[in-house]
Amino acid sequence: MRKIASDNQVKDALMKSVQNSVKSLTELHKIVSKKLHPYSVSLSRLKLIALKTRGIEIKIKKRVLRRKNVKSCPVCGDEFEKKYGIDVFGKKSHVGYICKKCNFSTGLMLEVPSKYLFSKK
Ligand SMILES: [Zn+2]
Repeated sequence: MRKIASDNQVKDALMKSVQNSVKSLTELHKIVSKKLHPYSVSLSRLKLIALKTRGIEIKIKKRVLRRKNVKSCPVCGDEFEKKYGIDVFGKKSHVGYICKKCNFSTGLMLEVPSKYLFSKK
């Protein structure tokens, strides 16, 4: 059994890993895992810690899923809040969703992350 790394250990390894930008979550996981050895971190936990770490910039490429009724954020799993805009008649209208936790936003058609790019801020 491998030992589970603490948040701080993961953050440390993350900061060292993004000296050069990393083009996908799986690649980032590979690099971080090497640095953490003999400790380990799961892919989903790594993503959540990266989202919380100041000093790391995450660019997300989105792909549209033709599905409505969006409930939770595809990035961090938190609940979405409705996003409103003002339409041409000056009325408030529902235009999409935003995640308050990680700032991921999407239109009425759900957009899901298809690619992540991690780099130093
Ligand atoms: Zn989120």
